[in-house]
Amino acid sequence: MANPLTKSERETLKSLYRLSRDGGDAHTGALAEALGVAPGTATATVKRLAERGLLDHRLYRGVELTTAGRAVAVAAIRRHRIVERFLADMLGYAWNEADRLATSFEHDLPQEVEERLYVALDRPQSCPHGFPIPAPEVVDIPAMPHLYALEPGDVATVAVPGSTDPEMVAFLDTLGLRPGVRVEVREKHPFDGPLVLRVDGHDRTVGEKVAQHIYVKKDLEMIKETKPA
Ligand SMILES: [Zn+2]
Repeated sequence: MANPLTKSERETLKSLYRLSRDGGDAHTGALAEALGVAPGTATATVKRLAERGLLDHRLYRGVELTTAGRAVAVAAIRRHRIVERFLADMLGYAWNEADRLATSFEHDLPQEVEERLYVALDRPQSCPHGFPIPAPEVVDIPAMPHLYALEPGDVATVAVPGSTDPEMVAFLDTLGLRPGVRVEVREKHPFDGPLVLRVDGHDRTVGEKVAQHIYVKKDLEMIKETKPA
């Protein structure tokens, strides 16, 4: 059996998973930027992960996770989100503090402790940012649309990435836009104009830049039962 993955190897897999899911270029340059490390460091980690069969690195085509690599990345994301929930629900940290703190120790948790935490937390469906906690052995997390992708009449629940700038978090807070909050789109102005949202009984206008930053889980439309007379 190969050595367990290091913290930086797992963070690299998580980052690659996010980059490819967001449709971004998973080149080592983008990866180094996302991880906040030197390009040479990212390249060396990518090489080690390729040797373990967790990703393919092809010249000019960038880095692509293999199925095994995706499974490890999704398991790491699952753990991260469970640890975030622990920090927020049991230790009382604010949702926007949980991401950074979780990363500082999640890698050292034994698998067994992760499972017990999950049960002790009553099997949560999402992290404090509003992103889903995937079931074990899942290899793909369904992508969530941006708030800006919604149309008038749509109702959805908000998710805010942990990497969000604190100033943006403070601004969103003034609008009542926090993870888990439900919004209804009232209007969408044409030509990339702003959205008008109903948030907690108030109409709020949100520009495209902000709306592209927030993710949403759309409410399923009610299936109307039409019984024949
Ligand atoms: Zn989170």
